[in-house]
Amino acid sequence: MTDTKSTHQAALERLQAAVFDLLTSEGWIKALQFRAQFHTYSFFNSLLILTQLPTAILVSGYRKWQEMGRQVRKGERGIRILAPMLRKDPDNPEQKILTGFREVSVFDISQTDGEPIPQPPAPKRLEEDNDLIRAAIRTLEAYCDEVGIDLDRELTHPTALGAYRTTDHSISLRPGLPALHELKTLVHELGHALLHDTHSVNRHTAELEAETTAFLTLQQLGIDTSEYSFPYLANWTDTFENLIAAGDNASKAASELTHYINDNIHHHTSEPARTTSAAPSLVHPRLFSTT
Ligand SMILES: [Zn+2]
Repeated sequence: MTDTKSTHQAALERLQAAVFDLLTSEGWIKALQFRAQFHTYSFFNSLLILTQLPTAILVSGYRKWQEMGRQVRKGERGIRILAPMLRKDPDNPEQKILTGFREVSVFDISQTDGEPIPQPPAPKRLEEDNDLIRAAIRTLEAYCDEVGIDLDRELTHPTALGAYRTTDHSISLRPGLPALHELKTLVHELGHALLHDTHSVNRHTAELEAETTAFLTLQQLGIDTSEYSFPYLANWTDTFENLIAAGDNASKAASELTHYINDNIHHHTSEPARTTSAAPSLVHPRLFSTT
């Protein structure tokens, strides 16, 4: 008989090892080193940057950009921020005294050209589509109905593909997603609904738990989302301990969803169910193959 718990454990170990490899890979380290060169601006300066250029991502001074092999394009307008003016304390030469602020110009990366920017590996969109995936989506739609979660496909957020709102227990998905990406996103949002509805956690923990829930749940169906899930998790992993800790809650949510899917998916597939002797409760993807 298939043991959901031990399958989850094996999948979790694979996930943790892969995310660790990603975080210690050359590409990732180069991207981190690049990011580390950037100054962290004060809250006030961050607001000044945001009001002048809301799309700013990485901001630095003109000469600093040149040192990094990039040139501010001609005609680009600088973002004005306030730099502290410091002078030595005459009584204590080790100390500096703040004497005021002066305006300086900084520029966002989008205003520069030059050396390519080291990028960490990005999550890839999941393009797969088959009968199993569609049946799983229909099953989870029924689950949403049963537990009182409103589900729509009308999300208009500029970057997010899905959202869970605790205020009215609703999930919104971006319209037109490929079937597997829609399923993965739906399970991710259900992970938020199951784990973060009543007790709040920080954003990092919430994303680690929700995406791990999606990965584990779909692994149980024989569907692999690692191309998206691993880079996504690496992006949200603040400490490796947190990634490992997220596995506990994610396993609970994934077990709940896995059991529901296994018990109910046969109501939502157009293919006649075939009998399996070894693991009657676990749906095997081959049963739903279209070819
Ligand atoms: Zn999320």
